[in-house]
Amino acid sequence: MPETILVVEDEPAIRELVGFACETAGYEVLRAECVKQAKEQLHDKAVDLILLDWMLPDLSGLQWLEQLKRDSRTGAIPVIMLTARGTESDKVAGLEAGADDYVVKPFSPRELIARIRAVLRRGSQESEKTVVCGPLSMNEARFSVKVDGVDIKLGVIEFKLLWVLAGAPGRVYSRAQLLELVWDDAADMDERTVDVHVLRVRKQLAGTPASDLIETVRGMGYRAVETHND
Ligand code: CA
Repeated sequence: MPETILVVEDEPAIRELVGFACETAGYEVLRAECVKQAKEQLHDKAVDLILLDWMLPDLSGLQWLEQLKRDSRTGAIPVIMLTARGTESDKVAGLEAGADDYVVKPFSPRELIARIRAVLRRGSQESEKTVVCGPLSMNEARFSVKVDGVDIKLGVIEFKLLWVLAGAPGRVYSRAQLLELVWDDAADMDERTVDVHVLRVRKQLAGTPASDLIETVRGMGYRAVETHND
C-alpha cells in the first residue's frame, strides 16, 4: 500500500507542484489549502506524513503543528515544514514545535522527495525497536524488558548488553566487540568489565524461563540462545 502524504499549502502552484512530485514518487496525495481543510482530511483518512506550509490563511502552520503534536491521535505523524522563511531562528522554532524536518522554498522536487523518504524511513525504524529472543522481549523506546510478559528491571548498561546479544540470537560476540557496542568510552576499558555486567544480567534473569539465555562461549565471548528453560 502506498504511503499517504497530506500537502497543506495555500498557493495553488506550489500545492500542485508538490502534490505532483509526491504522486510521481509513488505516494498517495491529499491536498488542503488551509488548516480547516487539512483537519477534515485528517479526520477522514490515515496519513503517514504531512507537508505543512508555514504561512496559511486561517492559522499559521507552526501553530497547527503545535496542536498536532499535543494530540495523541496525531502526535506521531511526521511533519515536514515548507516555508520561504530560511532564518536560523525560524528553523529552530519549527523543530522545537516538533517538525521532523524543514524545507526552504524554493526547493527542488527531488530534494523534497529525498527528505520525505528519509523522514518516513526514520519513523519505520523507530516502530521496529523491539527485540524478541525466546521468552524475552525488549522495547528500546520504553526501556522495558519482559520474560514471558513479566517485567525485569535492568540498568542502562545491562539493558544495552542484553539488547545487543538478544538482537542476534546465536551470534557470538567477543568481549572487545561488546565493549565497543555497549559502552560509549570503551577505549581504555578492561574486558573483564563485560563479565561483571553479564553477571548482573544473569542475576536479574535467574529463576525466570530466560535464566540460561546468555551463554558463555569459552575462549570467544558470549551469545544469546533462544531456549525456553522450563
Ligand atoms: Ca503560504
